[in-house]
Amino acid sequence: MITRKKDLRGGYPLWAKATGSSVRVRRVLKYVTCDIAVVGGGVSGALTALALVDAGFDVVVIDRRMPGCGSTAASTAMIQFELDTPLTELIDKIGRAKAVRAYKRSLQSVKHLKALIEKHDIQAEWADREALYLAGDELGWRGLQHEASLRKTAGLPSRFLDAQTLRRRFGIDRTGAILSKGAAEVNPAQLTAGALKAAQAEGGARIYGECEVTHIDCGDDGVTLSVGAHASITAQKVVLATGYETVPGLPSNLFEITSSWAIATEPIAPSEFWPTKCLIWEAADPYLYMRATADNRILAGGEDSGLNDPERRDAAIATKSAKLLKAIETLLPGRELKIAYAWAGAFATSPTGLPIIQEIDEMPGCLAILGCGGNGITFSMIASEIATKWATGKTDKDADLFERAGKPADGKRKRPY
Ligand SMILES: Cc1cc2nc3c(=O)[nH]c(=O)nc-3n(C[C@H](O)[C@H](O)[C@H](O)COP(=O)(O)OP(=O)(O)OC[C@H]3O[C@@H](n4cnc5c(N)ncnc54)[C@H](O)[C@@H]3O)c2cc1C
Repeated sequence: MITRKKDLRGGYPLWAKATGSSVRVRRVLKYVTCDIAVVGGGVSGALTALALVDAGFDVVVIDRRMPGCGSTAASTAMIQFELDTPLTELIDKIGRAKAVRAYKRSLQSVKHLKALIEKHDIQAEWADREALYLAGDELGWRGLQHEASLRKTAGLPSRFLDAQTLRRRFGIDRTGAILSKGAAEVNPAQLTAGALKAAQAEGGARIYGECEVTHIDCGDDGVTLSVGAHASITAQKVVLATGYETVPGLPSNLFEITSSWAIATEPIAPSEFWPTKCLIWEAADPYLYMRATADNRILAGGEDSGLNDPERRDAAIATKSAKLLKAIETLLPGRELKIAYAWAGAFATSPTGLPIIQEIDEMPGCLAILGCGGNGITFSMIASEIATKWATGKTDKDADLFERAGKPADGKRKRPY
């Protein structure tokens, strides 16, 4: 088995039954050949498949579940260039030049994702937003002010707001914040389905659902994926977009599978939202983040923990969702909020907050994608671009940033991954 099947999420995610999130799939697979096979039909596999089709490749996508029904369905889908690791900290870890490059690539990929959605007319409730990063116990106002000035020097669209301005503009009582342009919100289920449908329609991508890759055989003439004992896909190259069901050969000391929780409230009146419906998140541990949805709910998440046990993760949904609701009410008092959806999901973290996008030494011809941290979807977009260059035999200019998750420059790790 190339990836162990896991219980990726529990509870009731908001998107599980989103309209426009189903894709027509093939279920019977015998012997298939193609240029590039993509294992995994979550947001990473879907964006990669579409980018490959756009580049002229004959693509097959295969998923052991229905596409979009893995971790993608649990995402809160805040789209940001700002990484979980502040620029200040990332500079300490991988050096200034690389850290600035990672932030800039992330900013560019959010723009590219929007352009892709527009190009293929994907209906995914995309809305441009600003993002408000609040001071908390991990970074106070001085830290945020320094972070904002570093970002400004790097040409990133962020600026510091002092406590007074923050209170006046957003009614939020914190010692400071960073306000950034270039963020967005999206419906991840519709984005994934829309990208796969576009790949099917425009390049004739073949998409197999509820078919599991059990074995990989890498030879000089290409890669063969066994699908059980009596079916296979032979491709020149393979992209392993298997999410948190990770493939062997990834540097397991450079990522950790953890848990995260989320809630969506019942819809509220549009007038009850905070100004501009910006994304809100905080420099705190445990942290809270939140956004609006197209149907006027507050979607919030956080309370992350190192727990990697689905039963205990799901048992904690009631407690964690009560804490998330309380945190929203403390930050934005005066609203009557009711939880409509509460769920939990597996999550991945890395020492740098960067994703892992790299060839697997033991599997020549295979590129693996693991989106670590809270920017998984931005990283899916970056991965789709890197994979497309790789498929054409070229190397993306930023590929080095994501090999071995941007291994810290001094080779040391601050946390025991
Ligand atoms: C609670 C939560 C909140 C989040 N919030 C955000 C956010 O606000 N913003 C953001 O950008 N990111 C967020 N993320 C992260 C983001 O959702 C993920 O990074 C992203 O959805 C991962 O997509 P994926 O396609 O890599 O994985 P998946 O969606 O899990 O897709 C991988 C697919 O591979 C398939 N697969 C695995 N092995 C095999 C096999 N052997 N054969 C066939 N198929 C196989 C699986 O069935 C699965 O469908 C959040 C995640 C969680 C859990």
